[in-house]
Amino acid sequence: MNKDLLLELINALTILPGVGKKSAQRMALYLLDKNKDGARILANTLADAVDNIQRCSSCRMLTSNEVCSVCDDNSRDDLSICVVENPSDVLAIESTGGYRGKYFVLMGRLSPIDGIGPEDIGIDDLLKLIESKSVKEIILATSSTVEGDATAIYIKDHVKTAKVSRISYGIPIGGELEYVDGTTIARAIEGRIEVNVD
Ligand SMILES: [Zn+2]
Repeated sequence: MNKDLLLELINALTILPGVGKKSAQRMALYLLDKNKDGARILANTLADAVDNIQRCSSCRMLTSNEVCSVCDDNSRDDLSICVVENPSDVLAIESTGGYRGKYFVLMGRLSPIDGIGPEDIGIDDLLKLIESKSVKEIILATSSTVEGDATAIYIKDHVKTAKVSRISYGIPIGGELEYVDGTTIARAIEGRIEVNVD
């Protein structure tokens, strides 16, 4: 039997979040029928990105270089680290343009029920980084979910040498930063509350 490339492309597109069979069909037909040049660029860029993008050796953001553009920017404050759950959170905060420190991307959040502990999301690496760079301020921007809060509390309890604050203002309960608008994120960082005062 001949292989049906059209069907294979449609199936391949359905792996994208929010893309069902109908949307996949529409995308596949658009790419093949209406915009072949765009389709080639998409295919080449995707292959290139998949092969070359990995984690920044310092903050673990996704990048095609050894360190990401934020870590590489000497004008940014090394002594302030904003801790987030996902690379998408870095993009959300960067889009506000107001934050001038650096990041640490956990790639998840603590979830004992699913067996996800501190080492699994790199909290040990974060603590080492704080110590080695004598970081002065940690801004916890984990989501306002039960696991996000538990992650923030765990980090707060293990950081002894830096000021720790938690963003809160205006971020809805259960909120993921990705879905919050820029102004609200900027205000949430601005209005962060120090959490490790004894
Ligand atoms: Zn980085």
